[in-house]
Amino acid sequence: MSEHSSNPVQKDEQKNDFIRNIIRDDVNAQKYQQIVTRFPPEPNGYLHLGHVKSICLNFGVAKEFDGICNLRFDDTNPTAEKQDFIDNIENDVKWLGFEWAGQAHHASGYFDQLYAWAVQLIKQGDAYVDLQSPEQIKENRGSFNEAGTASPHRDASIEENLQLFDDMKEGKFAEGKAVLRAKIDMASPNMNMRDPVIYRIMHQAHHQTGDKWCIYPMYDFAHPLSDALEGITHSLCTLEFEDHRPFYDWAIEKVGFEQPPHQYEFSRLNVDHTLTSKRKLKQLVDENIVSGWDDPRMPTIAGMRRRGYTPEGLRDFCERVGVTKVDSVVDFRLLEFSIRQSLETTTARGMAVLKPLKVTITNFSDAVSSWESQKADSVHARFDDASQTLWLTQPNHPNVDMGEREIPFTKTIYIDQGDYEIEPPAGYKRLSPEKNEIRLRNTYVLAVTEHILDDNGNVVELKATIDPATLGNNPEGRKVKGVIHWVSASQGVPATVRMYEQLFSVEDPSNVVDVHQALNPNSLTELNAVVEPSLVNADAGTRFQFEREGYFISDSEDHSSDKPVFNQIVSLRDSYKPA
Ligand code: ATP
Ligand code: MG
Repeated sequence: MSEHSSNPVQKDEQKNDFIRNIIRDDVNAQKYQQIVTRFPPEPNGYLHLGHVKSICLNFGVAKEFDGICNLRFDDTNPTAEKQDFIDNIENDVKWLGFEWAGQAHHASGYFDQLYAWAVQLIKQGDAYVDLQSPEQIKENRGSFNEAGTASPHRDASIEENLQLFDDMKEGKFAEGKAVLRAKIDMASPNMNMRDPVIYRIMHQAHHQTGDKWCIYPMYDFAHPLSDALEGITHSLCTLEFEDHRPFYDWAIEKVGFEQPPHQYEFSRLNVDHTLTSKRKLKQLVDENIVSGWDDPRMPTIAGMRRRGYTPEGLRDFCERVGVTKVDSVVDFRLLEFSIRQSLETTTARGMAVLKPLKVTITNFSDAVSSWESQKADSVHARFDDASQTLWLTQPNHPNVDMGEREIPFTKTIYIDQGDYEIEPPAGYKRLSPEKNEIRLRNTYVLAVTEHILDDNGNVVELKATIDPATLGNNPEGRKVKGVIHWVSASQGVPATVRMYEQLFSVEDPSNVVDVHQALNPNSLTELNAVVEPSLVNADAGTRFQFEREGYFISDSEDHSSDKPVFNQIVSLRDSYKPA
């Protein structure tokens, strides 16, 4: 991680990153019949924000160049992998809005072919079984400055190697007692070319192939050959695989493909205050630091979905980040910017009071019972005598047609505690003893006549009046500045609202030794809010803008109309602007 990128790439009609430029040239040169990419997750955890970048790139370029993108599970290590992870990864890719070509593929689906190629390499004199211990193998690899030492088994005969590899396959060795290695160059300056291990023994059932195998190909061997088998044209991966490219090319050449795929490397996505490592995210789950992989604070796709982030916003974010070869740290606020932008015209509005302060309207009955005579033409309302409620009809969005709802207005309402200050700071535009009038959103102008304090000097209730002439009209003879939201105390519904901050208080949590020291103690705050009735009847997983508060989603797990639970998606605004 080097420079902090405050200048994310702007969205462009024609995207001109280096990968798309290469592909465009290949398309123009008619080098391939069709562009084929793949997204190759290992099913050993849930996908995270880093994977979103890879997904948007691989599926994105395939779509832009009329090609296809495969989903392939790189499942060569059965110990850490599970069907549950496979199901969630498929679900996440679809949710992001992408479709893979045909069925999902599995590296394990190629185990027979990979085995046959391993045998072919032995017969070509390009691979051998090493019986050194793992420690010896490691030691004999040498170092950056020092050539490796050849294994005493390196020059065994082909027949001997074929027999030993068969013994490996037949389970005649314990784990760690034998491996198959490519025979390349123990003095190569690239450590990955010093006879890398290509098959190892694991007496372990596999989620796809059951007990069929006790030897499994290494990722570095399975990956290029799976790419070649699927006819991948452009194999896009992150920069740390640059040093692996010589072996990638070696393996494909040795088994003899005429049109090999080509690997291109791009920089990983890093975002400040955010972990993008499955292993470290797993620690948070295993230690119950978060409630699960889908905790709304997690940068997993499952977590971000539950948090209320949109697929459109995530795709927009990836476009703005762009694709380069330079490692950088992207400002978290760019992600929030993209999410916020995707919500602006797509979410219904509603009123929710997050920290309720009771307001009693002392002239309510007189004022409201006469509302019909006030000819507020712009306001549609009906008064229900039995419940003494004025039901105000309002659109769900000020300029997008999303239907209407009825908002109940009653003698007792709640406003937010932050909207009344006994000693207001300079420039304060809401209510105080000095400035006692304000517009209540969607209804009358309110004037505070008295505040009631508890023993500690906190305001616990306001008494107020409304101006009967101000329903849908400006007050006569004076200007009233400011608008605040409110909710009926008798008709509003109590709701749990979860407010979020960054999970980590340090900028680069990937670099801390003890993750516990880096946690933000305020990452989750639960508020006892009150919301207008229209908000609680929506299905779980519905997004809203709570007026003046931000964007929120009814929680997909915990929300019901009886016990409403909302998660904060993102605040309404931020001074941050992408360059
Ligand atoms: P992790 O380090 O979290 O375990 P990984 O790279 O091992 O991630 P895989 O499931 O092997 O996870 O990755 C699938 C694909 O996603 C790979 O092509 C990988 O390069 C890409 N990828 C993973 N993390 C990022 C990231 N932060 N930015 C961009 N691409 C990423
Ligand atoms: Mg990996």
